[in-house]
Amino acid sequence: MDRRSILKTGSAALGGALAAAGCATGAAEGSGNSAPRSPFKVASVTLPIAGSSEVFPVRRIYCIGRNYAAHAREMGSDPTREPPFFFQKPTDAVQFVAIGSVADHPYPSLTKNYHYELELVAALRSGGKNISIADALQHVYGYAIGLDMTRRDLQRGMGDQKKPWEIGKSFDMSAPIGPIHPVALLVNHITNGRIELKVNGQVKQEADLSYMIWSVAEQISQLSQAFELKAGDIIYSGTPQNVGPVVKGDLLVGHIDGLPELSVRIV
Ligand code: MN
Repeated sequence: MDRRSILKTGSAALGGALAAAGCATGAAEGSGNSAPRSPFKVASVTLPIAGSSEVFPVRRIYCIGRNYAAHAREMGSDPTREPPFFFQKPTDAVQFVAIGSVADHPYPSLTKNYHYELELVAALRSGGKNISIADALQHVYGYAIGLDMTRRDLQRGMGDQKKPWEIGKSFDMSAPIGPIHPVALLVNHITNGRIELKVNGQVKQEADLSYMIWSVAEQISQLSQAFELKAGDIIYSGTPQNVGPVVKGDLLVGHIDGLPELSVRIV
């Protein structure tokens, strides 16, 4: 058989396979078993949407580092020279915290210096590549209040060794978050207002969202140059200064103007 015949035969075989697959799908639809079977189930991650019975499916969790000048300085960098940088947490790092509840948040393994970082989270309804700053907020479905919990000793240790600091940031349950509040419900995008974290009733972090070095719109624009953003992506927009450690028993209460408070107890 010459090469041309092989290609023709291959193509015919492929066509046949596709037709067979289509046939099988059609037959299976009738029996209510159309999707290929997997040997076990993997949970999808969703967040409740405030004021709705619908849920927001989480695709990826992006986080921006050092986005408030005073926090950048406390982490040892110069906020005037640094372009924004991003990292990700795994989607199932989400720990949903219902409004009015105090969620038990487990003190994680391996760390002796476990830190809070209170952040505004933007949730995308759509995405794209190379999104302009002017168009960026059109992609935002809503906002939430979240904690970017951090094993600071492991993050620093890996950074010192010039190794990836995933173990310090991207572990199980490291992303406590409240429900998504649609922009339609909020009336406006959240671009300013008080952000404050109390630990055991004492104010630890306080700033205004307008102090961000890179706004949410700028973050979306920058991120979309590196990654194709898609519906379901959420973006932790960085934390203000005065990050610090917690111990078991501590009660953390986060506040962002316009959103309900987020409360977790370290257990
Ligand atoms: Mn953070």
